[in-house]
Amino acid sequence: MGGDLRRPGRKPMISREYEFHAPKTLNEALSLLEKSGGNAKLIAGGMSLVPMMTLGLAHPDAVISLNKVPGLDGVKEDGGVLAIGAMTRHHVLKTNPLIAQHAPLLAEAAKYVGDVQVRHRGTLGGVLVHADPAADYLPVCLALGAQIKLQSAKGVRTVEARDFFKDIMTTSIEDGEILVEVRVPKLPAGSGSSYQRLHRVEGNYAIVNAAAVVEPGKKKGRVALGGVGPTPVMIDVSAHIASGVSDDALRRVSDAAFAAAENAYGDLNGDAKYKQAMARVYAQRVVRAAAAQAQ
Ligand SMILES: Cc1cc2nc3c(=O)[nH]c(=O)nc-3n(C[C@H](O)[C@H](O)[C@H](O)COP(=O)(O)OP(=O)(O)OC[C@H]3O[C@@H](n4cnc5c(N)ncnc54)[C@H](O)[C@@H]3O)c2cc1C
Repeated sequence: MGGDLRRPGRKPMISREYEFHAPKTLNEALSLLEKSGGNAKLIAGGMSLVPMMTLGLAHPDAVISLNKVPGLDGVKEDGGVLAIGAMTRHHVLKTNPLIAQHAPLLAEAAKYVGDVQVRHRGTLGGVLVHADPAADYLPVCLALGAQIKLQSAKGVRTVEARDFFKDIMTTSIEDGEILVEVRVPKLPAGSGSSYQRLHRVEGNYAIVNAAAVVEPGKKKGRVALGGVGPTPVMIDVSAHIASGVSDDALRRVSDAAFAAAENAYGDLNGDAKYKQAMARVYAQRVVRAAAAQAQ
């Protein structure tokens, strides 16, 4: 594939030839990936990979689709954990009753992702591996204490979400590995949570985003922030809120968020100082909202 040029002088959108595979089992996908020696790309929803290929930022020799591999999507209960398949689409995260009950932060975040088309194609696994620093699920997965399950031909390993993101669009996934599942501990009854984001235009990526969980009893909590550096950052706010979620406590949360956003960088959406300032605002907002929900 890669460009059947019907008219002379026309250039293909994706200028490089590549092989396309649509394996029907996970083992087949893993063996194709292993044989490629690192020169293949998996495709899930294609919402980020295809633009990357069109722009010439990714030029794999082969593209391996996960869309015909059974068992990689859906949300299941596994004791105290929700096991969410990597191929679960944003629309499912937004509407699934188990997510609404046990991990509502994911549903709140999913409703912001792109537009209707993107939400019906794009996947949880695709977002996490693409690892855009302002993607909606990154701080959510940190705040929820999610674990990322990776499978290769050699076996399975699990990485804590807080250790998964290494740099801008760089994760700890290795050549030959497929992200197969995201394991999210169910929030205990009486917890409060909130996800909020700053964006200029609906359907665009966030500029800064924040997810908070406040545990039952309101003595313990955490906030994760995205868009304020190459990777999401997490703050344990328990010490600040232990004596109540007062204005003083929120000021301390705000100071901690400002410090945690020290690696914020400027881009078209604003300079580093602006993003650090927004880290203050959004950390306070999500902690206040999560605490108001918690019992
Ligand atoms: C117009 C538009 C607006 C958007 N707005 C937002 C937004 O507001 N917020 C947001 O968070 N995102 C946004 N996105 C990105 C969207 O969420 C994508 O769905 C996501 O980034 C990639 O998911 P995908 O399933 O399409 O992955 P793909 O594009 O298919 O893949 C992305 C990368 O992940 C790898 N990959 C995919 N699945 C796996 C797997 N299971 N194991 C290992 N590697 C894998 C691929 O090889 C590739 O490198 C937007 C995208 C578009 C086009």
